[in-house]
Amino acid sequence: VVCGDRVNVGVFFWVRSAAFVLASAVAWGLQRLSPHAGSTGSLGVNLPLFAVGAAATAAICGSCALAVAAWAETEAIGLLHHLRLASGLETLFVVAFLDLLSYAWHRANHSWSLLWRFHQVHHSDGEFTVSTGVRFHPGELLLSVPVRLAGIIAVGATPVQVLVFESLFAIANLVEHGDIDLPPALERAAGRVLVLPAHHRRHHSRDGDDLKRNFGTIFIVWDRMLATFRASASYDRVDVGLPGEVECRTLSDALRLPLRALPGLRQ
Ligand SMILES: [Zn+2]
Ligand SMILES: [Zn+2]
Repeated sequence: VVCGDRVNVGVFFWVRSAAFVLASAVAWGLQRLSPHAGSTGSLGVNLPLFAVGAAATAAICGSCALAVAAWAETEAIGLLHHLRLASGLETLFVVAFLDLLSYAWHRANHSWSLLWRFHQVHHSDGEFTVSTGVRFHPGELLLSVPVRLAGIIAVGATPVQVLVFESLFAIANLVEHGDIDLPPALERAAGRVLVLPAHHRRHHSRDGDDLKRNFGTIFIVWDRMLATFRASASYDRVDVGLPGEVECRTLSDALRLPLRALPGLRQ
């Protein structure tokens, strides 16, 4: 599959797709096995929006993360070329670096009004289920592409490391949006390091103050370190959705939502 540190576009696509399918299966399975609120999900909006977003990103940047990583590797650009880390540690460093960048980008989405117009579509889901994890306006997805590419170049990630990061990110994203209750002991232990559904459910609260908490995707440590952490457990009930009454019942409603400036922006 992998020859040296080279991955071809086909392998990159299939491994990333397999990780996504696996992540969806695990998240849906946990949701059925141990439901939190028993929500069925806003599939009528989330799935078409996912299809539009996937088509838009595939058309504009199908494998540009791979191309950029291969280029940075050939040119020996990026932070990793100046650090002498063991290869396992290098991968962990890349995952942590790109996850921290994603934290910063998510926080910016709650701070800058233009970004919030797009990101509010993600928060406009009145239910919190695995499918919420693919509810993103194509505008938000496309705006995030240059940020991710800049991060890959800055850290000097190889194509394999990008693949590992993107697979872990997909798993974390889908599982933490799940309507899932975890056993308290597991939640306490894993929740010291990882973002769990209860943390991210809190981020989706209608309460404006909770919107400024728990921005992480893989590691919760960034929120803990940067004072945006709010503890949350499976037994906490959270009223999810945007502050105020927002009707977003169709794909077209969701696509047009950025035209409306809604409350919820982080002050
Ligand atoms: Zn958010
Ligand atoms: Zn979310």
